[in-house]
Amino acid sequence: MDKDKVLIIDDSAVQGEFLCSVLSGDYEVTTCQTAREGLDKAKEGSFSLILLDIVMPDMDGFMLLQELKATDLTRHIPVILLTSLADIQYEERGLLLGAVDYVAKPFSPVIIKARVNTHIQLYHYQTHFKQQALVDGLTGIPNRRRYESDSLTKWQDAIRFGLPFSIFMMDIDHFKLYNDTFGHPAGDQVISSVAKTVSAHFRRATDLFARYGGEEFVAVFLGNNSQSAFDFVKSIRQAVEDLHIPHNSPVSPWVTVSIGGVSIIPKAGDDYATFLKLADTMLYDAKRFGRNQVVWYSENKEQWRER
Ligand code: GH3
Ligand code: MG
Ligand code: MG
Repeated sequence: MDKDKVLIIDDSAVQGEFLCSVLSGDYEVTTCQTAREGLDKAKEGSFSLILLDIVMPDMDGFMLLQELKATDLTRHIPVILLTSLADIQYEERGLLLGAVDYVAKPFSPVIIKARVNTHIQLYHYQTHFKQQALVDGLTGIPNRRRYESDSLTKWQDAIRFGLPFSIFMMDIDHFKLYNDTFGHPAGDQVISSVAKTVSAHFRRATDLFARYGGEEFVAVFLGNNSQSAFDFVKSIRQAVEDLHIPHNSPVSPWVTVSIGGVSIIPKAGDDYATFLKLADTMLYDAKRFGRNQVVWYSENKEQWRER
């Protein structure tokens, strides 16, 4: 496993080197001597912890701490403050500003190592749980919470960059019947297989495919016009059918899905909820028209059906 990265920000080269020598056996250590450089480094590197000196000439540690906590790229990194100011007020101030801990000079190598170690472990737990909270337990794909938190950002990006935006809702056909016939555990297996197959189609960093709930999924993707989105999504429906998972539904001998979606180039002032609603209406139509098909609402406000 790679070593965790620790950033030391201290204007005293001697002190920086001392800390570095204490920690470099266990961690990959970077040192810098000014707050400015420290901030830049913190933004570009994936640090698990920052050791920050309070008294520095250009910007003091408190100001830098505030800056780190106000910056998206660095907010999550735990900061331990280093100080010779044996004053309770400073300690309070640092902790209130979001430092996780404090180490007072003169430094004991054993104490430093122990505190750094503890906070890096806590950081890993926290990262793990944050990540787990956004993943669906059954399928391993993003869950609804992740969808709720990411979809609006993508919508706003599409508006800002003038990009086509597509959304679809997908639902497994006659799934109640599947459960009734093959049992709930087999049903879970189908949900997983479908999720895996569909998710393999979404390869761009900007794509989002999530489990919306039950046997329903949602996808949001940027950059396809209606025609290319429609073709892409038809290939997804086909890929699910091609899994040839036996089902005795009135639609097909295999497990199938219905998909309803919409592509548009959103403009400032357009309402995301309206387009989500439209995708849902298209899904409803796909079910009504006979299931196992894609129904799409195009940029030109036409409704397209797969067959
Ligand atoms: P339609 O083609 O209209 O979508 O019919 P359907 O039977 O799929 O629709 P309906 O909404 O009536 O039933 C959905 C079923 O999905 C009911 C529920 O038992 C099942 N289901 C929802 N979540 C899960 C799950 O996590 N695991 C399993 N095995 N089944 C689930
Ligand atoms: Mg459903
Ligand atoms: Mg269904």
